[in-house]
Amino acid sequence: DPEFGNPEWIWRNGSLIPWADARVHVNAVGHASVSAVFEGVKAYLSADGTRLLAFRLDDHLDRLARSARICRLDLPYTRERLRAAVLDLLRINGYAEDVYIRPWVFPSGVIREQMVPAGTRCDVVVDTWPFRSGLSGGDSCRATVSSWIRVGDASAPPRAKAFSNYHNGRLALIEARENGYDWPIMLNERFKVSEGPAACVAIVRDGTIITPSLTSGLLESITRDTVLALAAGMGIPVQEREVDRSELYLADEIFFMGTAWEILPVTSVDRLSVGAGRVGPIASLLRTEYDRLVRGRADHHGEWLTELPLPGGE
Ligand code: PMP
Repeated sequence: DPEFGNPEWIWRNGSLIPWADARVHVNAVGHASVSAVFEGVKAYLSADGTRLLAFRLDDHLDRLARSARICRLDLPYTRERLRAAVLDLLRINGYAEDVYIRPWVFPSGVIREQMVPAGTRCDVVVDTWPFRSGLSGGDSCRATVSSWIRVGDASAPPRAKAFSNYHNGRLALIEARENGYDWPIMLNERFKVSEGPAACVAIVRDGTIITPSLTSGLLESITRDTVLALAAGMGIPVQEREVDRSELYLADEIFFMGTAWEILPVTSVDRLSVGAGRVGPIASLLRTEYDRLVRGRADHHGEWLTELPLPGGE
């Protein structure tokens, strides 16, 4: 159903199957989702239009395995098998555009309790849909500090990319939207900055990029890691440390970092303008560099790109 971006094929438990056949019993919905984990990966069309480039696919698949481990799910496929699944699926669906890839793992069968035991058989699904990149446009957003505290390592570890963590993010997002903002920034249990509902966050002060450390209660973001590597390559100083809420109000720039949001500048926080209230120079540079990288135009980090040649594109 192209209207909803639904592809012709989806990958489940080792097979490519028609989208319409990817069914489960109604009882598989709900209880099983408590422990389910997932990934979000992007494949970008190369600048010359000849290839799809899956960005840091192996890193995402490794994180899927780590999330499954934390949540005590047995992931029955190797990274190599899942990598092949993603590439098969992109090929059979015939994409020649930017694609979002969603691998996920959930306990299979009819489940009637939330406390799904460790070792329960899991389904593994890979779904795909087209997306429009914001990297070449001038997108920005207005943020607010949420009154919801981010789930923490002592309760529901954000280091696992578990669907259940998005209950917390969703509440924060709804509050932000109802108060007229685009996105929330959540504080952690120690009242330090943690992350947004689906992206990490960084600020710039006096030319230094500062981002909450990985022990601030956040997902080990691959985009965050990419941004830190790009900054190092550009000679921009970087600090990973605790970030106070009040630093958000003093920052020269703020931006979100995530696979879905890419690099998204924040122009105000709680209605205080960030810097000049426009997209700042460092976010802007990073966006350009990120766009070059993911589209295969950078002369570094080629190991982050898994290439899928398009028919007739070689
Ligand atoms: N935090 C949360 C809660 C997320 O959902 C995401 C998106 N996966 C991120 C951070 C950013 O992670 P990544 O850069 O690996 O997409």
